[in-house]
Amino acid sequence: MGIAKDRIKIPSDVDNYITDELPDPVNESNLYNTITTCMIHDPCGPLNQKAACMKEGKCNKHFPKPFLDATFFDTNGYVCYKRTSTAHHTTQFGQIVDNGYVVPYNKRLCSWFRAHINVEYCGWNMLIKYLFKYISKGADRVKYTIKKQGNTDAASTSVPTATYQGSTNHDCRPINEVQNYLDGRYICSHEAVWQIFDFHIHHRYPPVQVLTVHEENMQQMVFNGESSILEVLSNPYASTTTLLGWINSNSRGNQGHDLTYLDYPKKYKWDKSSKSWDRRVHESSKMVGRLVFIHPTSGELFYLRMLLCHQNGCTLFKDLRTIAGTIYPTFRAACNALQLIGDDVEWLTCFTEAAMWATASQLRSLFCHMLFFCEVSNPLLMWNAAFDRMKDDYMHTVSVQVTDKIVTSLAGIVEQQLLHDLDDMLRSVVPSKSMRDCGLPVLSVYVTGVLQNRLLLE
Ligand SMILES: [Zn+2]
Repeated sequence: MGIAKDRIKIPSDVDNYITDELPDPVNESNLYNTITTCMIHDPCGPLNQKAACMKEGKCNKHFPKPFLDATFFDTNGYVCYKRTSTAHHTTQFGQIVDNGYVVPYNKRLCSWFRAHINVEYCGWNMLIKYLFKYISKGADRVKYTIKKQGNTDAASTSVPTATYQGSTNHDCRPINEVQNYLDGRYICSHEAVWQIFDFHIHHRYPPVQVLTVHEENMQQMVFNGESSILEVLSNPYASTTTLLGWINSNSRGNQGHDLTYLDYPKKYKWDKSSKSWDRRVHESSKMVGRLVFIHPTSGELFYLRMLLCHQNGCTLFKDLRTIAGTIYPTFRAACNALQLIGDDVEWLTCFTEAAMWATASQLRSLFCHMLFFCEVSNPLLMWNAAFDRMKDDYMHTVSVQVTDKIVTSLAGIVEQQLLHDLDDMLRSVVPSKSMRDCGLPVLSVYVTGVLQNRLLLE
């Protein structure tokens, strides 16, 4: 996957990189041969109702694609490629196919490699979540059994031959599925070469310093299981965190007092070995700090985190709840004095921050938790601010049910699907609530019927 340094923002610029049409068979004969050999979806739909890709009367890859005179982005940032009804065509399995069956490709790549190389535009605003899902989801895996040659004793590992689950087993002896189960990583030849040469899979910039958040004497400690309690308690090194390091650093020197905990990594570097903050020699470093997420139902800890973004130079935990010389009894009271809370601003800030990294499903759960436990004063205001962020996955689910990717007309159904699921979630808790109880939009009777459609609910 490649990411252009300057993101493509004008639809017609996509045409410079991606083509969805057959080349000219005379002027681009070599490319035409490659495309017609490697980049054509096998005839399906009206040309072949029995094709393997046909599911319930439709091609599951949405071919043939509709003709479009110009490339454009739909309202969700998905691209719809230009695909004109030119006279160019080719023959596949005795059927004449046109541009509707061409798989998107890059002319230069296909000319060089003369192979199937599908190139797609990924420029939508949630691309970063998509990328991180692939980076963090782990490697491809296969389930398999290992058997002796000529012996079906599945527990043996000598002379291994891999057999995929589901293969026919003529042995009538009972199979110990627990003992038989193996979870193996699958490495294809390309990945193996990549790993042998120690190439990086991805690169992150700017570097991020994770900043722990905890109340006084409530930090997480890691110690050896054989240690005694006294040993653990007398070892300050084991209990030091980035937050305690910030407070200690403020106590020792005069520099850095103008920085909040959140901004501290801009000028200070966390030394993991000494567990202390050191002033950066090169202040041009682009290191950014990120406070760990604290759920809004966590009480004082949630408000402490909020103060860590605003208070600077603290030498004691008490300083965090000291505003203009007044020591407030709780972190929440201090937030109130700083006017950081009220009118749901704290919940809106929390949701907006979570929306940067959380999945739509996690955001729906967070939204319902807030309605239940956070005394949201204006749920409709929250709904209007949060609605767009909670439906990413629905847009995908609904869009794959239609033959083209123009999902604008389905926005209403997506909204109703969201209302439906949120209402279910609110009703599943005891004592239950409903969207109507919270003063939020309710499901329309008509769309409720549409949502009974099994495909959409899946
Ligand atoms: Zn098809």
